[in-house]
Amino acid sequence: MSHSTELWFPRDYQESRGEFLSVAEKLSGELESHTIESHGPAGESLSIDLLTLGDRDASDCLILSSGLHGLEAPLGAAIQLGWMRRQLASGIEPKIRVVLVHALNPYGFAHLRRGEAENIDLNRSFLRRGEERRGAPPLYEKLDALLNPESPPGGFDFFALRAAAILMRYGMTQVKQAIAGGQYEFPRGLFYGGKGPSETQQLLTPHWKAWLGQTQRVIHLDIHTGLGRWGELTLLSAAGNDSPWRQNVGKALGGASYNREQENAIAYEARGDFGLWCAEQAEDVDYAYYCAEFGTYSPTRVLRALRAENQAHHWGDPASAAFQTAKRNAAEAFCPARMAWRQKTLARGLALCESAIAHLQE
Ligand SMILES: [Zn+2]
Repeated sequence: MSHSTELWFPRDYQESRGEFLSVAEKLSGELESHTIESHGPAGESLSIDLLTLGDRDASDCLILSSGLHGLEAPLGAAIQLGWMRRQLASGIEPKIRVVLVHALNPYGFAHLRRGEAENIDLNRSFLRRGEERRGAPPLYEKLDALLNPESPPGGFDFFALRAAAILMRYGMTQVKQAIAGGQYEFPRGLFYGGKGPSETQQLLTPHWKAWLGQTQRVIHLDIHTGLGRWGELTLLSAAGNDSPWRQNVGKALGGASYNREQENAIAYEARGDFGLWCAEQAEDVDYAYYCAEFGTYSPTRVLRALRAENQAHHWGDPASAAFQTAKRNAAEAFCPARMAWRQKTLARGLALCESAIAHLQE
């Protein structure tokens, strides 16, 4: 396999899906496509696609999912594709069950958005039983006008300066928590968890158990980008259920996982976490979920890109240059074009999959 083939990143949702399906069809797996109701920018239909392969009756399972945050999908899809191509080349069936889920948020991938069609941030939306879909951190309410301006993008609005002033006043930890922890009161705002279950959640709910099959132990790698240092991997685990097996998984995955305290220094506590929901769907399964985060740019640059895209989506004219710029910057913030970033993250992602499989096959 040539190096250039391995370093394949999709340009958009359609290309990614096309490639996923074409390689999946060559592998001896079961392929499922679940069409969602919303459409792509050109009116095209969108779906979540899923490939199951390996030993279907195995007690151990690897789940590799991409695109929970729409526009973060290219790296996850590239890792899935890279892994499938290696699989095709080796011809050796994994001794475990392997489930690849392509584009958990196809709308966001196609439209270069973090959220889905209802502006729901999927990783703030999988609320657990009994949790209420209401509330926003008091500091988020204060920052709403700055974060979610009700005007088309373009022009200079001193965002970087205003953001710097807020960071000075409240400190990074508090600001990060207030902005990114999730909110349920500003439907057009960033990090909105929704007033009801998302389309993706409704689609996954009846299928999740079947996708796990007979498995007893799961390592779930859910690929994300935009958090952490440039090109570096941070594994964020879902809280709770820290069985000895799960603790071993963390060590086996290259020691790149952090305990909650360390995680809090990098990330933040969020409601509606996808990983907790996954584990809750299968209470009798030892479920090791990791949000595998690959860093890109600084938090301020990433937030500025998200903010401008959200502004363009709600208030901009799709034909305008400002709209196109906002989309382009958002795509770059979550999947840098620089070759060195792509090489490093793809190689690290593939190595992560291999470590997970090796650990499960032990
Ligand atoms: Zn993400």
